[in-house]
Amino acid sequence: MIVAMQAEATENQINHICDRIREFGYTPHVIRGTERTVIAAIGPGDKKEHIENLKSADGVEDAFPILQPFKLVSKEVKKQRSVIQVGDVTIGDGGFVVMAGPCSVEGHEQLMSTAEAVAASGARILRGGAYKPRTSPYDFQGLAEEGLKLLAEARNRTGLKVITEVLDTEDVEVVAEYADILQIGARNMQNFALLKKLGEINKPVMLKRGLSATIKEFLLSAEYIVTHGNPNVMLCERGIRTFETATRNTLDIAAVPLLNELTHLPVVVDPSHATGKRSLVRPLAKASIAVGADGLMTEVHPRPEEAWSDGPQSLRFEEFAALMNEIEPYITLRKSESN
Ligand code: PEP
Ligand code: MN
Repeated sequence: MIVAMQAEATENQINHICDRIREFGYTPHVIRGTERTVIAAIGPGDKKEHIENLKSADGVEDAFPILQPFKLVSKEVKKQRSVIQVGDVTIGDGGFVVMAGPCSVEGHEQLMSTAEAVAASGARILRGGAYKPRTSPYDFQGLAEEGLKLLAEARNRTGLKVITEVLDTEDVEVVAEYADILQIGARNMQNFALLKKLGEINKPVMLKRGLSATIKEFLLSAEYIVTHGNPNVMLCERGIRTFETATRNTLDIAAVPLLNELTHLPVVVDPSHATGKRSLVRPLAKASIAVGADGLMTEVHPRPEEAWSDGPQSLRFEEFAALMNEIEPYITLRKSESN
């Protein structure tokens, strides 16, 4: 349930409500807005007598059940959009942040040249997999910690922030040591042990939508991370499985405005994995801005024909530069509309 405190409620009253919520068997999560504080009481079921009881307590404006199955990530609990700060990069404030880089970190020259190229074109975050979830066990599995070190070196050189995937609970610590944002890949969207573990770290997480996950499942997975203590979660729509085989996946572009209706978490679009085709990245990047995404993740490689993974969907440097030039006026237009 949600307990909305009066604007003038005191700290003592807020603490008292949290105690009552615990006594009733729920866990309180205090959400401080600019005007008032809201307390989400999370637990099995929202009992009518508990709601009535809390409604009449001092300092309480109203108490009501949360209707959605996902709670803390829901707009019902928090109307204001969540803003995620990654150093000097802000995600979710109405701007549009671009994350770019190779599918896999392959080596020094490949990563440094890509980082410099994408930074020069206006990307703020470098992507690159050091632990790769490959469909075949015989494919390249990533450079592991050596890859993380290269990402950190690229960050030092360019000032870009770094996002990289963590595949396993055992690697969370080492990945969190190097990365600015930890990515959970599509194949791990419902790896609940991993979700819980990422709830316990204090670095932002980007959760990618599962291959065949519904929006409800996607948001329930995000709920796992938030309810385990980490509010800095962004979502990534990266295409879903459909009957269509002309593209690698089908980009569910409607998911972006729908997620913006249902959740306060930022939403990023990955047209590279969504389509598997570099020619489709540019038009879908523009579509993402139009439908209200907070950012873009795209693959870039110095020589896509030689890439160890996902070459056909990776942009060359000049293609990425052209993409950035082309989307800039749309980003400016959206910013001016939102002001
Ligand atoms: C990736 O972004 O590196 C990746 C493997 O994507 P996905 O999990 O969406 O397939
Ligand atoms: Mn890839």
